[in-house]
Amino acid sequence: MSTSEAAALAERLRPAVADERVLAAIASVPRERFVPESERHRAYENVALPISCGQTISQPLVVARMLEVLDLRPSDRVLDVGTGSGYHAALLAKLAAHVWTIERHVELSARAQSTIEELAIGNVTFRVGDGWEGLPDEAPFDAINVAAATGDSPPVALEEQLAVGGRLVAPVGAAEQHLIRTRRSAEGFQRARLEAVRFVPLVRGRGS
Ligand code: SAH
Repeated sequence: MSTSEAAALAERLRPAVADERVLAAIASVPRERFVPESERHRAYENVALPISCGQTISQPLVVARMLEVLDLRPSDRVLDVGTGSGYHAALLAKLAAHVWTIERHVELSARAQSTIEELAIGNVTFRVGDGWEGLPDEAPFDAINVAAATGDSPPVALEEQLAVGGRLVAPVGAAEQHLIRTRRSAEGFQRARLEAVRFVPLVRGRGS
């Protein structure tokens, strides 16, 4: 039931998402498992939904676009900042070799971990901490996904944790936010501004 609904969601996203690997990943992950019971009936709508701790699971179209922009390879090591429900991390895990995901709320991290374990996705490591700092002990990463908005540029500490050839995507801005993609080459960092989005803020420090 849930996988056919996930497949239908992927089909609805197809007009806006060119990467077939991303659509296949969306079709294979049951989003209903990542939302509270009270929101299950809306799990396959293309909308952000409330989770606990006043946070949200992102809109599927935006998640799909961020996955596409990261241009993931099966061998990639990925950092995901803002675990939330764990849905985005589960999709990253389908497309890459290993995902380290950081969340400031213990409750969200623990729940995401049990959901991902129940789905037998084995290549995700959960950390509770401040995502502004990234994960220096596991850097460099081939890709970094930031799922909460930062002031006027992607956090420097995160860009510094990209491998040469690595890509980062982050929502940037306050009243108006856009996705920014950073690519790291031997010459430095190249940033491109992409579509407008709306994310909860990346808050400094560890939460409760
Ligand atoms: N990727 C999530 C949605 C993210 S919502 C999903 O698929 O469901 C943004 C998340 O970032 C929230 O859970 C919020 O608690 C977390 N967050 C905000 N600031 C943070 C920080 N400094 N470090 C780690 N996580 C943070």
